[in-house]
Amino acid sequence: MSTVRLYYRDSFLYDFQAHVLESAERGGKNLVVLDRTAFYPTSGGQVHDVGILAFGEGRASRILVLDVAEGEDGTIHHFTSHPVVPKGTTVYASIDAPRRHDHMQQHTGQHILSAAFVRLFDIPTASFHMGVESCTIDLETSSLSAAQIETAERLANDVITEDRAVRIRFAEIEQAQRLGVRKLPPKQTGELRLIDITDFDLTACGGTHARSTGQIGSILLRKVEKVKQGVRVEFVCGRRAVNTARKDYAALVEAAGLYSAHIHDLPQQIQKSLEESKASGKAQHKLLEEIAELQAEKLLAGSNSSPRTIIAVFPERDAVFLKLLALKLAATRPDVVALLASGTEQLTLVFAQSPGQKSNMGQMMKEVMGQLGGRGGGAADLAQGGLTGSFDLARIQTVLQEVASKL
Ligand SMILES: [Zn+2]
Repeated sequence: MSTVRLYYRDSFLYDFQAHVLESAERGGKNLVVLDRTAFYPTSGGQVHDVGILAFGEGRASRILVLDVAEGEDGTIHHFTSHPVVPKGTTVYASIDAPRRHDHMQQHTGQHILSAAFVRLFDIPTASFHMGVESCTIDLETSSLSAAQIETAERLANDVITEDRAVRIRFAEIEQAQRLGVRKLPPKQTGELRLIDITDFDLTACGGTHARSTGQIGSILLRKVEKVKQGVRVEFVCGRRAVNTARKDYAALVEAAGLYSAHIHDLPQQIQKSLEESKASGKAQHKLLEEIAELQAEKLLAGSNSSPRTIIAVFPERDAVFLKLLALKLAATRPDVVALLASGTEQLTLVFAQSPGQKSNMGQMMKEVMGQLGGRGGGAADLAQGGLTGSFDLARIQTVLQEVASKL
């Protein structure tokens, strides 16, 4: 027997009385079926209600309704915090009103927004999703401009400000079609429940809605992204819109504080800062090249073997510097073999030789890294390897000397 849905006729009924038809543990959950309910089950994009069931002497026994879902036979399943309430028990139910009110603001706002996109641009809504922080609709279109978003948002807010009545009507399909219904449910049988936003939108829907559009408060459109089925538009209504704007403002103020700027000047400030950072990165690289060149000259001056084998370890330098230095060494003279290491937490090895020298740096690197337990390789003239974890730079120095002795 299907449950009588009290919310069908009154979305503002938060407290009601009902009888337990069934109560059992099912699949690790505690299930209660009532003869009638005002608890909304998750469906049509709208999230379920939560609340309390009180019963017994002085209504002293209280259990929580944690989840509500539609059963296949038209019953509504209340999933509760405690097992088994005796069949036939009278329960006094209370729905979490602020949560329901929030859901009604989002859901009614969605009707208006979807209708606005149809009226303005003939773009239908494929689906609606209500999240914890924001909601989305997926629009059946391949693209949506910023101007379209703004126009739809303005129209939706106009309709909210006009405080139009939102009525529940019941009609046969033919009658609904004559009235110009925007959307019909996939299964069209029997009488339809229609949500009528005065002179703006008529839609078949089983959800809970505000009594008038003014109760939605406001609607704010946010992220717009392309998805497989069209364009997804994120929005927030009512208190969520205020909370979201408040959060955004706090983030902007924090960022503006870092730049000592007004929040409206942030984009230009960030742009400027990025350009400065890019220029400074370039200047730093140029300095690093100069240091590598000086270091290369110094190392070569202290070597007169043939080939000139340079072994050097730089604990404070990184892989970028090591590679720069190796290339400078190999390019400055025709007979150089450079075996370099750097790092404290992460070891980098770079082997390089002047073009035309007889050794194979890539092969040597592979062998050394195999010995050290790291990874590396490269071409005949230049190779790189790395190792994370603990290592001893003194041991690395010895390893490099062993490599040099085999040249
Ligand atoms: Zn609805």
